[in-house]
Formats: sequence, C-alpha cells, structure tokens
Amino acid sequence: MSASSSQDAARRPRGAHPWRGVIEEYRDWLPVDDDTPVITLGEGGTPLVHSPWLSRLVRGEVHVKVEGSNPTGSFKDRGMTAAISVAVAEGAKAVVCASTGNTSASMTAYAARAGLTPIVLVPHGRIAAGKMAQAVMHGAEVIQVRGGFDECLQISRGLADTYPVALVNSVNPVRLQGQKTASFEIVDVLGRAPDVHVLPVGNAGNISAYWIGFREYAEAGVAQDTPRLWGFQAAGAAPIVRGAPVPDPDTVATAIRIGNPASWRLAEAARDESGGRIESVTDEQILTAQRELGAREGIFVEPASAAGVAGLVAAAEAGQVEPGLTVTVTVTGHGLKDTETALSGVESVVDSVIDADVSAAAEVAGLA
Ligand SMILES: *Cc1c(COP(=O)(O)O)cnc(C)c1O
Repeated sequence: MSASSSQDAARRPRGAHPWRGVIEEYRDWLPVDDDTPVITLGEGGTPLVHSPWLSRLVRGEVHVKVEGSNPTGSFKDRGMTAAISVAVAEGAKAVVCASTGNTSASMTAYAARAGLTPIVLVPHGRIAAGKMAQAVMHGAEVIQVRGGFDECLQISRGLADTYPVALVNSVNPVRLQGQKTASFEIVDVLGRAPDVHVLPVGNAGNISAYWIGFREYAEAGVAQDTPRLWGFQAAGAAPIVRGAPVPDPDTVATAIRIGNPASWRLAEAARDESGGRIESVTDEQILTAQRELGAREGIFVEPASAAGVAGLVAAAEAGQVEPGLTVTVTVTGHGLKDTETALSGVESVVDSVIDADVSAAAEVAGLA
C-alpha cells in the first residue's frame, strides 16, 4: 500500500469502503477520458470468497468470485457502466439490447440513471420473473419476441443499424472492456493470477473479457502470468463444444441458453491462447452444483452461474485437476433472480407445519 493511500485510509471512518465503481477504480485501463460522464451504481468490488468445499475437492485453493453482489445482481453491470457512459458521451438518447434477462436488468438500471430510453428484446415467455421485474421497475419498454435470444439479438442489431439507438449487447466492445475489470479484481485481491479460472459460457462475451483483463495485467507486469480459462456451456446449448450453432438451444440455465454466441471466435481464442478448455455440463449437474454451493458455502446463485462450479466438480472427479492449484470460479448472477427454478427441484418448500408449541418444534427439528 502506498503512503498516500494509507493516509487516506487513516482519515476514513472505520468500516467505510471507498469503492467508486469500476470506471473510477480502473480508469486508466478503460476507454474513457476526462469528458466521459460516469454512469455508475457502484458496481464491481465483489467478494472473492474462499471455498473449503471446492478446495478439498480439487486438493488446492478455490475462491469464488460472487458477481451476484453487483447492483443489479449480475456481472453485466461491469460492462453496462462502461457501455452506457460511452453511449451518453456519444449523444445517445435511446439504448437497445437483446437479453435472456440479466443484460436487460442491468441495461435498464443504468439507462434509468442516465435518463436514456431503454428498449429491451427478450425471448417470449422464457425470462425469469425476477429479471423481468427488474426491467419493468426500471421503466423499460420490454418487447417479447417469438423466438430465442439469437433472434432477439438480430432484431436489436437491425434496430441499431437503422434507427437512432445505441446497441449495448456484448457485441459492443466497450462492454467487454468494462467486464474485464473482474479479472483485475481477482489478481488485485489474490496478489497473483490464479492457475485456472473457471466460468460459464453463453454468448461468450465474459470469457473473452476475462482473457483481455488477465492478459493486460500480465503484459503490464501487474501479474506474473495468465491463468488457463475453463469455460462451461450447458449441454443443451453447447455450440462451441459441438463446433456448430445449436438451432433450438435448451437448458434450465436460461442465462446461457444461446445457440450461436456472438463472441464465439474470441472465446475460442481465449481458450486456445490460455491453454484452457470449453466443455459442457448437464442441467442435472448444474442444479446439483447450485444446491451444493448454497448449502455448503452459503452462496445462492442462479442456475447459469452454477455451470462453472459444476464443470470444476466434474473435472475434479475425473482426476483432471492437478493438486496444489489456485483456482478461481466466477459465479455470474444472484439466485434470487430465478427462485422458480431453484425451488422446482424441491419436493415441498415448507418442511413441517406445527402448532405454536416449543415441544412440537423441538420434535420436528430433531432436538427432542
Ligand atoms: C450473461 C450471463 C452469463 C453468460 O455470459 P456470456 O458473456 O454471455 O458468456 C452467464 N451467467 C449469467 C448469470 C449471465 O447473466
């Protein structure tokens, strides 16, 4: 810690955390200048939580990057603060995105702060209720499209090509610039790059963004090296694994239900240049990982977010993780966004119903 930052720390009230959002924290690394208005909700600075369960399993040290702790509950906020700030600087009055739910939740929040009109295209009837509620509360025009995410993205591109609206999907390169700050944070907190970084892959922007971030830190000498990137798709939506688009992708993990990822080539480059892998996990593995993470580590994530954890568990069980590694796993979004899927595998939400009586409670709790 430098002398001036420890003096700053001495002046701050105890417990106050001066996190200013990813643009101010990583300004020098981002495509902004002094004139760019900073549209922020204080995103980033998310917890990196040590996982005893996963550490035992891989016989190394595993830390979970909890991106559900971002202001709208997913990592999308990192890219959105950057994309919306730049859109405002360029004079945009309206913004459009295609979304499986989290991009729209994030985009509408940042658009609301910036006073932009948000237009959202989502697959009809296939978006988790929590995410839909977010877009509605942020005042968006939500258009449901009879089709999947891939069709929604085509329409969004078409609107942005023809009308005065800025496209803020991750095909917008500024989004990836914002999202790369997650890898900076991991290195800053660990004091080194991990050996392996694991994450889910849907439209494949995030794995590409992490690779940009890890590479930039290594090139600048902030980190000694770069991690291998291990990405996991859902088995029913695994175009990169199969090597061909999936026309009708299907998985409980709606945030990665994508058949033709926009950042496909970038993700393959991230995989190959890092010496990593992109594989798939089944819905059953995803839901099991989601429950285990919640019950063992106290971290509740949405199904898509558990794909990386499921992949790491499978790799460990197959003996594919050499012992002694430092591994980080990004869990991408908060479990509260999709309680319906979380509870769908549970037989009965309420375990027991009793009269208001201590001994009855003690009996069903197994205390008596
Ligand atoms: C967007 C999203 C993903 C997938 O990220 P990509 O950049 O599309 O690969 C995974 N999990 C959650 C919760 C998301 O919102």
